[in-house]
Amino acid sequence: MQLAPTLKACPGCARLVHAEALAALANTAREAADRGDLTAALAAWREALDLLPIGSKQHHVIAAKITELGKALPSNTLSAEPASGGNRRAWGVASGVGALGLLAWKFKAILLGLTKGSTLLSMFLALGVYWTAWGWKFALGIVLSIYVHEMGHVIALRRYGFKASAPMFLPGLGAIVRLQQRVVNPREDAEIGLAGPIYGLVAAAVSLGLWVATDLPIFAAIGSVGAWINLFNLLPVASLDGGRAFHAMSREQKLLSGLVVAAAWLVARDGMLILLGLLCVARAFSDPPRPAAGAKAAWTYCLLIVSLTAAMLAGQQINVGNP
Ligand SMILES: [Zn+2]
Repeated sequence: MQLAPTLKACPGCARLVHAEALAALANTAREAADRGDLTAALAAWREALDLLPIGSKQHHVIAAKITELGKALPSNTLSAEPASGGNRRAWGVASGVGALGLLAWKFKAILLGLTKGSTLLSMFLALGVYWTAWGWKFALGIVLSIYVHEMGHVIALRRYGFKASAPMFLPGLGAIVRLQQRVVNPREDAEIGLAGPIYGLVAAAVSLGLWVATDLPIFAAIGSVGAWINLFNLLPVASLDGGRAFHAMSREQKLLSGLVVAAAWLVARDGMLILLGLLCVARAFSDPPRPAAGAKAAWTYCLLIVSLTAAMLAGQQINVGNP
């Protein structure tokens, strides 16, 4: 019988079309799990899931396996190493040296996106747009900060075994990472969503560090505006990072986030924080009540609000003038 390439089971006999590929993927996944490489095991199971008809028994069984493995993965975005292995231990030693150390260590993983022609091309387009508006130094700094933010998502996605595209810049709007598979687990969704602002905060901190070291006001401007862009991404709406974090939060946690945003506004008086706080409260009351998927998403979200606001204010401490 000739089957359409998108068909996952033969409509005549219900036999799985990709039975051989599925068996091979299951083998790969088991071997990876045996060596303790949970990321590789997750990637193989997710690939297998894509080959199965939704609603079938196998789909159900493998989806459950993925949830279980995802829970077993140590929940620490910053120690995420897609290649895993010995690198993780080495990173444990390096973590003490702070933000700059992190960027240096993640340099290879972060640079990975630049090997993609489409990323580079869209990056240059975005650079051109920002350049005409603000001059090349500022434009380059902002494009690099956005890039680091996006690679935070890519690193977290790959760690959970998802196939993720390299970032694509949308000139004037930021950038996106296209996802070929759906994230259904709220805890994973929050972790992947918040990985962007975590890396973005590190990029802002590095820029502020360069400002202190060199006294060049351009670095203060890049750090401050970079922090603001990351705060904007924490707006709890549909596809923004904040919206993904809210998937894992209870009503109380959303209200607590709103309180933290209100406190940040009292200090910073930035109009965007009013919008952010109002949306937190609106989501708390309009979302159907549901238990939190742990406390991590909420405290990471609140810590990000506080530290990004602090970074934004720190960079505003000088009169930047026209960068
Ligand atoms: Zn993001």
